[in-house]
Amino acid sequence: MLDYVGLESDLDAEERMIRDTAREFVDDEVRPDVGQHWIEGTFPTDLIEEMGELGFYAPNLEGYGLPGVSETAYGILMQELEACDSGLRSMASVQGALVMYPIHAFGSDEQKEQWLPKLGTGEAVGCFGLTEPEHGSDPSGMATHAEAEDEGYLLNGSKTWITNSPIADVAIVWARDRSADDDPVRGFLVETDRDGVSTNKIDEKLSLRASITGEIGLNDVYVPAENVLPEVSGMKGPLSCLTQARYGIAWGAIGAARDCFETARQYATDREQFGGPIARFQLQQRKLAEMATQITTAQLLAYRLAELKERGEMTPQHVSMAKRNNVRMARDQSRIAREMLGGNGITADYSPMRHMANLETVYTYEGTHDIHTLVLGQDLTGIAAFE
Ligand SMILES: Cc1cc2nc3c(=O)[nH]c(=O)nc-3n(C[C@H](O)[C@H](O)[C@H](O)COP(=O)(O)OP(=O)(O)OC[C@H]3O[C@@H](n4cnc5c(N)ncnc54)[C@H](O)[C@@H]3O)c2cc1C
Repeated sequence: MLDYVGLESDLDAEERMIRDTAREFVDDEVRPDVGQHWIEGTFPTDLIEEMGELGFYAPNLEGYGLPGVSETAYGILMQELEACDSGLRSMASVQGALVMYPIHAFGSDEQKEQWLPKLGTGEAVGCFGLTEPEHGSDPSGMATHAEAEDEGYLLNGSKTWITNSPIADVAIVWARDRSADDDPVRGFLVETDRDGVSTNKIDEKLSLRASITGEIGLNDVYVPAENVLPEVSGMKGPLSCLTQARYGIAWGAIGAARDCFETARQYATDREQFGGPIARFQLQQRKLAEMATQITTAQLLAYRLAELKERGEMTPQHVSMAKRNNVRMARDQSRIAREMLGGNGITADYSPMRHMANLETVYTYEGTHDIHTLVLGQDLTGIAAFE
């Protein structure tokens, strides 16, 4: 596997173990069928609990059975999962960074005890409902709202593009609390079997096909007051979750790019044209050299990000830079790898075109490339250009 400047030689024993466990799981359990899942638009749901048993959900958190591994180990795990498919990494990202993280960071003791062990083992599946049909890049405009009622709240609204909503047991729904001054955004734990909840699946996606995506409809859904995340109010709630998930994406995208590179390198040495392997042509070597360089520089950024996160010095803007750079890199390199495979490159027998299509979603969700550009622009100039 490409590790051109030997970054993995600095991994400690636990980090290597996590890397190897994830690689083996992917090779044995997922890679053989992932192309078929992608074609059929299904996720291997039978693996959700096994992923939990292997510690793939929020292993960087501590307590409630979670091991508190290093941020590097967590990043490497995301890299290995996405080397298989962005849908697989999305499963772990949503469950860990978007559902378990907010419960861990902002939940009551009862909420933590009720949900973290079950989510950690994959016995329960969670989803994160922020995006709405009319509010994507600007989620603060959300229309979903809560009104106080009978020592609880009535929720109304709709969320869309929600990873795993059709299979989730619980949704973290971000909604404006109209019973409080200034309608603050609050996080609500909504069990999906409550009256008034619907979770329609979104079909016919041409990207991230091996991942289940749906809507969340909320029609006078009652939740008791103890289902509100007590320790956070305002947009910093959902945004801090997104920072965690984007951190994983910055690592994960490198995995997709690395898999494209390895596939193209192998193909170029095997495939013969004009009397020998195409890898002997300078044009092909240039593509491989560029791919390896881009992947390596993205890895360096990710490793540095892990150090900053470990020290508590990572800012959301650092994460924006890494998500923006590494996903764009992977998206560009997947196309080049596809090109190197010629006609075979457009089939599901090889991974690059699947990664290429998946990366359109990764480029768009968790803040589009444009939005991260604006985040960096604001950080660099002090002037916000969002509106
Ligand atoms: C497969 C998939 C899974 C997803 N999973 C989840 C999930 O689990 N939970 C969840 O809450 N959401 C999820 N999302 C939603 C995702 O986060 C949104 O799609 C994303 O935030 C963009 O919102 P939008 O699609 O409404 O695009 P829009 O915000 O409408 O953007 C359209 C275009 O306008 C550009 N644009 C917007 N504002 C500006 C600006 N100020 N300046 C310049 N350009 C701008 C954007 O960059 C984009 O190119 C998922 C999306 C997909 C596709």
